[in-house]
Amino acid sequence: MHIPVPKILRDLTPDLVWHLPNPDSVYLTFDDGPTPAITEWILGQLARYDAKATFFCIGKNAELYPNLVDMIRSEGHALGNHTHNHMKGWGRSVGEYMTNIGKANEILQTNLFRPPYGRITPQQAVSLTRAGYHIILWNILSRDYNKYIDGRTCYKNATNHVKAGSIVVFHDSVKTFKNMSYALPRTLDLIYERGLVCKPISLK
Ligand SMILES: [Zn+2]
Repeated sequence: MHIPVPKILRDLTPDLVWHLPNPDSVYLTFDDGPTPAITEWILGQLARYDAKATFFCIGKNAELYPNLVDMIRSEGHALGNHTHNHMKGWGRSVGEYMTNIGKANEILQTNLFRPPYGRITPQQAVSLTRAGYHIILWNILSRDYNKYIDGRTCYKNATNHVKAGSIVVFHDSVKTFKNMSYALPRTLDLIYERGLVCKPISLK
């Protein structure tokens, strides 16, 4: 059941999203790109199933590779803001953090935000919510970034608890490619075998 939150409360309460209740959709997300070759490879994998995802891009990378941002958008995926330069919220003033995110948003034009490292202060979260952003966290980490695990473990991390409404984190970066490239195609196979679909995150 969805209980509408009064607007005044919504303005004061940070909007942290850990999962998105939905009867048939899984939300795959890719952080830290776009990255040449790797982002395109991911788009190709998603296209096998007409799966849609959400790309939490770093503003600096988006500036360097605007063609990749256009590709993500034109293929029906969602874009999210992941700060301009992967800034950790802790230890930064609200003003500095918001300015950094605003810079990234000049190119990304999105109301979805994911804090790098999940590190954000309550004050920063409130400011972002007031500025109209939804703060998207996750309930499944593939841990593709962990160099001590292999692709099989990454696949198990991504799929052991996956179900409708899950928000799953992968990365589109060079250092995560080995694990992610093993896990992603198999994760897609499993999701679609179970009759689920992958949708982009879309929030008003
Ligand atoms: Zn990140």
